Formats: sequence, structure tokens, C-alpha cells
Amino acid sequence: MPPSPGSSAARALEQLLFPAECLLCRALLPFDRSPDLVCLLCRHRWRPVVPPWCERCGHPEPLFGRCRVCADWPAALRCARSAVWLDAAARRAVHALKYGGLPRMADDLAAAAARVTLPIPDGHAAVLVPVPLGPRRQRTRGYNQSALLARGLGARWGHPVAELLVRTRETVTQTTLTPASRLANVAGAFAMRNGECGMRNELSAVDSAFRIPNSTLILVDDVFTTGATLGAAAQALEAAGARSVMAVTFGRATIPDFTS
Ligand SMILES: [Zn+2]
Ligand SMILES: [Zn+2]
Repeated sequence: MPPSPGSSAARALEQLLFPAECLLCRALLPFDRSPDLVCLLCRHRWRPVVPPWCERCGHPEPLFGRCRVCADWPAALRCARSAVWLDAAARRAVHALKYGGLPRMADDLAAAAARVTLPIPDGHAAVLVPVPLGPRRQRTRGYNQSALLARGLGARWGHPVAELLVRTRETVTQTTLTPASRLANVAGAFAMRNGECGMRNELSAVDSAFRIPNSTLILVDDVFTTGATLGAAAQALEAAGARSVMAVTFGRATIPDFTS
């Protein structure tokens, strides 16, 4: 009699015929961890971002003067934290998620990002808000990696996910831009979804997520490069009435270069 599907014998057989490999290093995954796409060794190569840091943006503090990474953020954006530095090992995982057609990778990244702690005030309800893609990019990719990451985080943290934002225009991919042009690239690129869908309550410019008294909205994105995207997304939430916005990303670029 063949083993019934889902039984441990069936899973052992599947493992034998189609052994699960780590997507990053091709090492065989141990049987008990086969739902993961990244092996423990590769995860250990991800370097956690740790203090000392700028309390607001979570970047290493400058040697002189005030932090320039978060200097131009809207007042509502109080705090941003990232799980790991975006060096070669972490970058490969992000690329597999964004460009490798591997949406399942989001859960491995969410598991790492869930270790981040945000100073959410006592008694505040928290709602996770994914940073949206433009419609064209969403169509070609088939999913928004930040929304998947938010769902994985929401399941772990026990917070709801609300896709409050839309991108009002396609932005050029940020990777080749200088910090100054990144700011211009994303300025005004986000708006409240309800505003666009014509569902906004005319008496108050707030979405239902803001009607929860004392709520903190937590923006979720895959990577933090210069903070320009998070700043622009927070601006849209602030304009709609949000007073407390925080942000979490899986990866953080090592050197935002403000000299170029
Ligand atoms: Zn590996
Ligand atoms: Zn800062």
C-alpha cells in the first residue's frame, strides 16, 4: 500500500525523491526544516543590525553633528529598524524574493524581521502597512514582496495588515540613483488607497485604521536604502491623519552616501 499523502512516510519519500535544497547555497535542508527555503548556515551569515544607532532611524550615528539619514523625515515617522545588514548574503535572499519569482522566500525574511523590536507606546494598537508597488511592477512580479513580508510579520507579531497605501506613479528603480535623486524620485509617490478609490469619508480625512484610538502604523518594506521611500510613504500617512508611524525592513544598505 502506498503511503497516504501528508503522512510522515509520504514526506520522507518526497524528501528522498526531491530533496529540498537551500535556495542560496544549494546545501540539502534537514528533513525537519524542509518548509524553509534558506538553510540555518545561510541565515547565520545574515549580520543583525545592532545598537549603537540613531534612536530614530536605526542607522549608526554620525561621528559629528546630527543624523542626516532621518533629518528630512515627516514628524510622524518616529522610528525605523531593520533586521540585517544588506551585504552579499542578505542581498541574495532579497533578490530571490523580488526577482527570482520566489514569493515563499518572504516567510524566511519575515522570520528574521520578527526579531526586530519597535518602541510601540503602551496601549497602542499596531497595524502593519506594506509599502506598495506601482501597478505595472505589481503586475509583472505577480506579488508585492513587502505585502508578503507584512503578512509573515503580522502572523508572528499578532498585528493586522492593512494595505492603506497606493503608489500614485511608477518610480524609477532606486538602485542606480544618488541619495538626492532618490528623494525626488519618490516624493509624493504615495497616497491613501481610500482616497484613490473614492471611498474616503468626506467628514474626516482618515481611514478606518486611524480611527483606532492610539494606534501606531508600522510601514513594512523589504529594504531600507536611504530611507527616502519610507519617508515619502510616512508623509502620505501623516497627511491622512496618522500621528505615530514606525517602520521595519528586513535589510538595510550599509552606506547611505550623502556626499555624492
Ligand atoms: Zn544555505
Ligand atoms: Zn537618524
